[in-house]
Amino acid sequence: MSENKNHNAQRMNIEAVKRIVSTVRTTLGPMGMDKMMVDGGGNVIVTNDGATILRELDSAHPAAKMIVEVSKVQETNCYDGTTSSVVIAGQLLSNAETLFDKGLHPNVVNKGYSKARDMVQAFLPSLAVEGERQLQSIAKTAITGKSLETSDQKVAQLCVDTINAVGDASDVRVLAAPGGALADSYLFNGVVLNKDVTTNDGDFKGDSTCVLLINNGLEEQKQDGNVQVQVDAASYSTLKNVGREQLLDSAKHIVDSGANVVIVRDGVHDTVVQYLRKRNIFVVRRVPESTMKRLGNEFGVKPYHIPESDMEVSAAVIERRRYNDVDYLFVSSDLASSEATLVLFGATQSTLDEVQRGFDDALGVVSLVANGDAICYGGGATYVALASHLRANANEVGGRAQMAIEAFADALESIPGTIAENAGHDALDTVLAMRHSGLPFGPDIETGGIKDMDDAQVYEPMSLIQSAITSATEVTTAILRIDDIIGRRGE
Ligand code: ADP
Ligand code: MG
Repeated sequence: MSENKNHNAQRMNIEAVKRIVSTVRTTLGPMGMDKMMVDGGGNVIVTNDGATILRELDSAHPAAKMIVEVSKVQETNCYDGTTSSVVIAGQLLSNAETLFDKGLHPNVVNKGYSKARDMVQAFLPSLAVEGERQLQSIAKTAITGKSLETSDQKVAQLCVDTINAVGDASDVRVLAAPGGALADSYLFNGVVLNKDVTTNDGDFKGDSTCVLLINNGLEEQKQDGNVQVQVDAASYSTLKNVGREQLLDSAKHIVDSGANVVIVRDGVHDTVVQYLRKRNIFVVRRVPESTMKRLGNEFGVKPYHIPESDMEVSAAVIERRRYNDVDYLFVSSDLASSEATLVLFGATQSTLDEVQRGFDDALGVVSLVANGDAICYGGGATYVALASHLRANANEVGGRAQMAIEAFADALESIPGTIAENAGHDALDTVLAMRHSGLPFGPDIETGGIKDMDDAQVYEPMSLIQSAITSATEVTTAILRIDDIIGRRGE
């Protein structure tokens, strides 16, 4: 194979990536714009979320697909920072092209980039912001520029309260209802059942009540249709009666327990429902297993498998609330449990979807920091400090790789540059001023120039920055290693 001095494969891939990056880079930062995306079926999504935009773009180019992967990895690891990771990757690739023009081989670029990444990872911890962790500011930084921003104080507080209640972003339950105002959103300390009581006539106005959890069904065993059971008519009816009798026993145990409400995982035979109803006991049936588990947590009990004698009931408050024509049961106890549900409102389904995406980001970053992550200055200030560190130490590496390290530093500065540019200010002037002043200065998005990020309270989790840089470097080096694009025969 002849050596290709122009590195055509790499250049073609870089072009494809640049195109895709240019569509998301205008969404970066507080003044970033939203994108409206329409699919073949006419469905519309309006979003500011990098990962969502990239997911919806149907790019057929393999290198562009690799970039989409970066944003997914970033989203999975850190919830936020997806646009940043893609912008850095795009800039690393674009700078690689310039290095090819100067005669650098892709492997040398890769070597320099990997070295730069290692230097960044080693230095980043020293840039942690000292002092108390500002969970509210972390949430606010994540939502600036999104539709949620109109209620940022409220949203930030809700995010902090939610993570304080449940512990981790992955455990947050959300009930999203269209047809309301974002500002009315709230955190409910309990479990929400997307079900109604079978009898439909329970008041459930939020009075105290006694609840029993049954992690099973209260119906007769059904004959499995595939199994041929040969029984004569007489024994069949006794069999059936045995089933009935057991059900009746179960129902009696429930009555004896003093419960007002029974929440059951599977079905409940109508005769049992009626029997209990006559004794003022309401039945909620077909509740998903995972919800049963959460109810158990809320009450600090293990649900009963089958009704037995001397069952203990749990004190609860149950309230029926109706949102967007759907009835929900809000179930809670006095006990301090980690069960909580975020109830979000938005005017329409599509605005609500974007609200939910914004909450996902903000809950995610709050969760990272609440669980021990350090914080760094946002607005790209940390990236500029990392770039200065790289430039100051690149000569240690020497040779051609040193040029790649400097190109890596330039790529990191594309974050504050793009934030400023999207706000209508000059990217280069902003970056130069930030380099000159150092931390904690970041872009002043309102007036241009720079601003103290401590005063503006713009902070983000350290792992967000770390992961954005790592994943961007990884995909860049992977793309630069490809020196041939070979069409595969269709399958
Ligand atoms: P991403 O998908 O990468 O999170 P965003 O559009 O959410 O992209 O923009 C995040 C960037 O905006 C971060 O670098 C963050 O620090 C920065 N940022 C947020 N608020 C401000 C602000 N008030 N001033 C300057 N930069 C900000
Ligand atoms: Mg963000």
